[in-house]
Amino acid sequence: MNINVQTQGEGPLTHAPADPVLWPTTDGTLYPIHRIFCVGRNYAAHAREMGKDPDRDPPFFFTKFPESYVPSEHTIAYPPGTSNYHFEVELCVALAEGGRDIQEKDAAGKIAGYAVGLDMTRRDLQLTAREQGRPWDAGKNFEESAPMAALHPVAETGILTTGRIALSVNGETKQEADLADLIWSVDEIIAHLSRFYELRAGDVIMTGTPAGVGAVVAGDRMIGEITGLNSVETDVV
Ligand code: MN
Repeated sequence: MNINVQTQGEGPLTHAPADPVLWPTTDGTLYPIHRIFCVGRNYAAHAREMGKDPDRDPPFFFTKFPESYVPSEHTIAYPPGTSNYHFEVELCVALAEGGRDIQEKDAAGKIAGYAVGLDMTRRDLQLTAREQGRPWDAGKNFEESAPMAALHPVAETGILTTGRIALSVNGETKQEADLADLIWSVDEIIAHLSRFYELRAGDVIMTGTPAGVGAVVAGDRMIGEITGLNSVETDVV
């Protein structure tokens, strides 16, 4: 049951509501994005490169506005306020249905599909916020910070637990790992997140990035890949 309270007022709107954010799927449908949740430090080698010990502390999350989504093959503008703009290639999981307190054994049944995405990050702002104990929003949640390739329905891919995940910049491989290296599995992430939010169709989870993150500048071309999925291809301008 949806607990959202939406006022059904009367009268003219003060401004036009935002358009829904629609994510093309490989079977020709459109998936409306509700929320984007992102998991922090979910590959051990990446946790170490960020100066943290990888362990089984519960996963932690930050969010991006749906409007941060950009389709593959669209350019993204180098964002303001940073001089250290980083790529993070990630497995993105879209939910077909949600709920609260989802059990791990039931989590796979909630998945609509998968895609390759980039959790673009203003690393200097994120690290300053981290050091000061402040929120990560300015570092993580901004326009064009979530390029994603087309969404593959789970009926096409099956449940993904292994597969090469990689990212190249201008043809040079920067990140390369396997989905089996995730510290917290997709099922565990969904179960955990559902203890804090009422999940629903349209919720998308970016599941964390492997080691090898680094900076891009205008003119760079990033290609993110996961075995069996369409790659995400993005130019920084
Ligand atoms: Mn990330």
